Amino acid sequence: MRTSKINKGVMMAFMAIGLFLLVPLMGQVESGKTKVPRNVILMIGDGMGVSQLSAAYYFGEEKKKEQEPSFSRFSYIGLARTSSGSEPVTQSPAAATAIATGYKTYNMAVGVDLDTVVRENIVELLSKQGFMTGVIATSHITDATPAGFYAHQPERYMQKEIAQDLLKSEIDFFAGGGFSYFLDTTGHNGFEEHGIQVDFSKLKKIRKPEPGERYGFLLAAERMPTMREGRKDFLSKSTSIAVDFLSTGESGYFLMVEGSQIDWAGHGNNVQYMITEVNDFEQTVGHVLDYADKNGETLVIVTADHETGGFTLGAAGNNNDDTADYTIIEPTFATTNHSAALVPVLAYGPGAENFIGIYENTEIFHKLVSLLISK
Ligand code: MG
Ligand code: ZN
Repeated sequence: MRTSKINKGVMMAFMAIGLFLLVPLMGQVESGKTKVPRNVILMIGDGMGVSQLSAAYYFGEEKKKEQEPSFSRFSYIGLARTSSGSEPVTQSPAAATAIATGYKTYNMAVGVDLDTVVRENIVELLSKQGFMTGVIATSHITDATPAGFYAHQPERYMQKEIAQDLLKSEIDFFAGGGFSYFLDTTGHNGFEEHGIQVDFSKLKKIRKPEPGERYGFLLAAERMPTMREGRKDFLSKSTSIAVDFLSTGESGYFLMVEGSQIDWAGHGNNVQYMITEVNDFEQTVGHVLDYADKNGETLVIVTADHETGGFTLGAAGNNNDDTADYTIIEPTFATTNHSAALVPVLAYGPGAENFIGIYENTEIFHKLVSLLISK
């Protein structure tokens, strides 16, 4: 009897709270329908956990420190769980597959599920709806992260097969390194047969594209150079060229932009390498947000496939032997592997409010699909 009395009291309380909540909520549903973006720019910092992102707030060129990193411009923030379908610590192929197809898979899989069954990715889904699509990477374009958005192979190192998948895919624009993977034994590449115009020397604006034309920029035989080797503004410039080109379609576009080498710096436990790669990515994010502000119809998502290196920004010295120095940040790594830390999801523009919370990385796919695919 006592319990039922308590339950009644609890229920009354909930009903009272419910009435309070219901009134404003109903107003919201009526007045503010979820805005639907026309375009999506999905930016993936490979290996960019919260500490890597934080590094942009403390390190970088002097002139840049005067203004807040572009990450501060996002108001809808979430965290994603990254474990793959088979291992708690994911690798990039499984993470890219999760984000691109909504399926958790084994760590080495690209675009196939746990049973190696091909799963449709967001590029394929959106292409059917008339979207134009593109992928950009600062590694080779056949590397796991971009490959997740166009390829279906059981193993990430099948680079030649992944290259063939890109030729046959719906991708309208690509930029990165890796032209060697497109060459057959006679040194021939298949771009012309697939109607793709590829520039191997430098980025340049695409003038007056005809409907159906596809373009690529492959500026290295394998990976692109690091920032310290002189990659310069490749990432932001190729993104801007892609946006101009993809905007010529009748429907919207989907563009994946990867800061690939944040991960490699993490594996190498190389702080300076990591900071220069994070800063390049952060600056590209800034340019994309400037564009999104002007355009008004573009949803920008910034996330990572996983964290790399167990990176931290601890105070220098050692608390236990009284040498701690809280005036100095001493960036350190805990591992040369990926970690299972949750990764940031920053969202900006129409539909961004859907990306708050803590959820599986596969939800990024589902959230995008429910925003973009007309029922
Ligand atoms: Mg990658
Ligand atoms: Zn990695």
